[in-house]
Amino acid sequence: MSKRILLSSPHMSGTEQKYIQEAFYTNWIAPLGANVDGFERELAEYVGVKAASATSSGTGAIHLALDLVGVKAGDTVFCSTLTFIASANPILYLGAKPVFIDSEPTTWNMSPQALATALQEAATAGKLPKAVIVVNLYGQSARMDEIMQLCNQYDVPVIEDAAESLGSSYKGRKSGTFGHFGIYSFNGNKIITTSGGGMLVSDDETLIARSRFLATQARDAAKHYQHSVVGYNYRMSNIVAGIGRGQLEVLDERVAQKRAIFERYAAAFNEIDGIDMMPELEGTFSNRWLSTMTMDPKKISISPYALMDLLNEANIESRPVWKPLHMQPLFEDCTFYPHAADGVVSERLFATGVCLPSDSKMTVEEQQKVIDLIVKTL
Ligand SMILES: *Cc1c(COP(=O)(O)O)cnc(C)c1O
Repeated sequence: MSKRILLSSPHMSGTEQKYIQEAFYTNWIAPLGANVDGFERELAEYVGVKAASATSSGTGAIHLALDLVGVKAGDTVFCSTLTFIASANPILYLGAKPVFIDSEPTTWNMSPQALATALQEAATAGKLPKAVIVVNLYGQSARMDEIMQLCNQYDVPVIEDAAESLGSSYKGRKSGTFGHFGIYSFNGNKIITTSGGGMLVSDDETLIARSRFLATQARDAAKHYQHSVVGYNYRMSNIVAGIGRGQLEVLDERVAQKRAIFERYAAAFNEIDGIDMMPELEGTFSNRWLSTMTMDPKKISISPYALMDLLNEANIESRPVWKPLHMQPLFEDCTFYPHAADGVVSERLFATGVCLPSDSKMTVEEQQKVIDLIVKTL
């Protein structure tokens, strides 16, 4: 059987070993050291923020951000609905309640229209959310101008979940740097990986320093072990950070490769009536982490699941678009704000979307195999 064609798998640069060896040589096999400091500095420089703190996961970084903006039990937090569960789980860790906001069609991300309604109703009820978590899906930035303007108007802090959009930009500014906090993930399938890890970024250096304190069990300055607030064990190890430094060197190259993969799909499916590739909002630059398309059921007789089954039989990995969080059993009692009264955008994207193999190691020939199978089927 031929080699499986993957959705998105780790793609090393070759320089990671140099940083790991340095850590071994100096015996800094710990959740601090030169690689952690270096990775934080280099990533902050790359995205253009004042400070960054490396964490053991992207989920942990979201948890820290929510804690730092003061989310407590009983509070509400608004969150994009069309996303991976990790965007919202930390809201539950803190005993707060998520409220989900629908997508809009031009970015697939948070609808400013739905957000406006949700904020207005919350203000009227005298219970504004403690934070808004905005997700940049598959590399595409949300409509940050409109979202920031609304959140600033109501004075609600924004946490940008840029786990999937490292290397993307919005009007020339890097994705993940618009909110009070941004978070990135280096999980195994992300555009760059450390095998597992995350980063919290902000222009507020005091809060980033505080995040390091919280992430190391919140130990007070004392000779003995003293603790006054709840802490976590969320720091990145110096070994893992070494992988990150080697990966960061090739991030722009990976973005170019992912974009080329997307362009090849877009060109090949251009003529197929009923297939639409994920849009790229004018003024934004997506890292195209996953090439994603929708299949219009009025024009295409085969369902996305049937197509995904056929791909799987040919040893090709594909995935449905994230199932909206407001549809998850875990969140069935949560409030949801649709984009428009007559249509829920996220549900349509879930029902019609397919994420195609977008592995930066995939050869042009391998991608052609995927394309040929889809063209033949449709
Ligand atoms: C991957 C991902 C996360 C979580 O990151 P981990 O490092 O796996 O904890 C959060 N949000 C989104 C949108 C993601 O895709």
